[in-house]
Amino acid sequence: MQRLIHSLSELKDKKIAIVGLGKSGISLVKLLATFGAKLIVNDKKKEKEIDEDLSYLSNKVYKIFGGGHPPEAFSEAELIVVSPGVPLSTPSIVSAIYNGIPVIGEIELSWEILNILKSDIKIIGITGSNGKSTTSTLVYEFLKKDGKKVALAGNIGFPMAEVVYEIYRGQIDIDYLVLELSSFQLEGIKNFKVHSAAILNITPDHMDRYSGMKEYIEAKAKIFQNQGGDDFLILNMDDKNTVSSIEYLRNIYLKKGKLPHVFYFSRLQKVYGAFLENDTVRFHVREELSEDIKKEMENTVLPVNSFKIKGVHNIENIMAASLLAFSAGCRGEAIKGVLTEFPGLPHRMELVREIEGVSYINDSKGTNVDAVAKSLESFPGNVILIAGGRDKDSDFTILKDIVQKKVKALILIGEASQKIANALGEVVQHYFEKDMKSAVIKAKNIATQGDVVLLSPGCASFDMFRNFEHRGDVFKEIVNSL
Ligand code: ADP
Repeated sequence: MQRLIHSLSELKDKKIAIVGLGKSGISLVKLLATFGAKLIVNDKKKEKEIDEDLSYLSNKVYKIFGGGHPPEAFSEAELIVVSPGVPLSTPSIVSAIYNGIPVIGEIELSWEILNILKSDIKIIGITGSNGKSTTSTLVYEFLKKDGKKVALAGNIGFPMAEVVYEIYRGQIDIDYLVLELSSFQLEGIKNFKVHSAAILNITPDHMDRYSGMKEYIEAKAKIFQNQGGDDFLILNMDDKNTVSSIEYLRNIYLKKGKLPHVFYFSRLQKVYGAFLENDTVRFHVREELSEDIKKEMENTVLPVNSFKIKGVHNIENIMAASLLAFSAGCRGEAIKGVLTEFPGLPHRMELVREIEGVSYINDSKGTNVDAVAKSLESFPGNVILIAGGRDKDSDFTILKDIVQKKVKALILIGEASQKIANALGEVVQHYFEKDMKSAVIKAKNIATQGDVVLLSPGCASFDMFRNFEHRGDVFKEIVNSL
């Protein structure tokens, strides 16, 4: 496909609109201003707020449009870069596309610039409805332990544009870049190519933004659309939506005549890739794989009881992360070493404290129904579940069976309380609480020795908190003060 940018000098005086000024938008302003681009910044925030957010970068932008996404914001633009938070279906963006203005995301533009600066960096990209941050961090830790020069960026909170800026300034020097990629970020790619890509799972999430599962699967499948015969694709064999994304491989084959090497991972059956046998992760490889990778994979066995992170979902994340790392030439010893030490990320099944034989677990990042189901699956039973928040048009009835099996009491907070009660109320004792503090106190009063109090909300946090981290921190603070 034709490159959008061929040299850095092309960026000089190019009128580029940046739509949405979150973290990645600000990093892009910083990066593009360095090359003298004429930046048009647009956000639904007021102009004054945009100006404050830009701080010292404010005098480097050409125009600011606040208060929405009016068509005038794009009338001069030669290129439009849209943040993951802004839907491409926004009317003024749709008409810009119609008028032939290229519309891309931050990942694409950062990648185009990276290619000019250093084209041989191997990109390892991870997407999925759940497990992205954990898996991306694991891959990063594996490669680091193996002595490789690697950075971690993307949806995890450190924009790719920032990494590219640091490379340009000579502040870092890397051979591998691990990227956590959301479906919103993938919607904005064109040429972006991932050497090793993984789709961890595709379960209903963000149904408030997609017309249905088909559109959501298509967005995830974009992660491998530009792969070739030397690249790797890692897929979850146990997840039917992920497996169905394979139908898009046909397009790659038609274009290039070559497919990436496909590895699967499965907890349920022996597959080419990673599988579980007698509580041990093992690797099964195809003959045609390069000797070095084959040898490392065949010689590596990972007993589940040696992993510091717990939970069935983390076995899946570990399988995917190991396959990604092997495909990037990592040694098995490095993987083994990290797994005995890696405690997991905060707000993901994080043990906060034990009080009188009751464990309090913070899974504030459990923001959709499948995450809640997987978290519940990891406990034998007797869970007091704190859930609720802002609904993402989710179907909570999916949780009926698992809640009936594992949950002793359900404590509901936030906007979605009634909807969750309607979906699950008949299978579990449930209570409505007004805030996190009263929810935790209620849970403490119900809990008896051996129980687990689990915050796994299955919803977004924005009705009551700044973000999921804030929600988890509030929970931890209350638990620590009990
Ligand atoms: P993401 O970055 O995709 O949101 P995280 O690694 O931050 O994923 O995990 C978020 C939550 O999703 C965790 O708190 C856990 O409840 C759940 N989770 C993690 N890994 C998986 C998985 N492989 N399958 C299903 N749920 C998972």
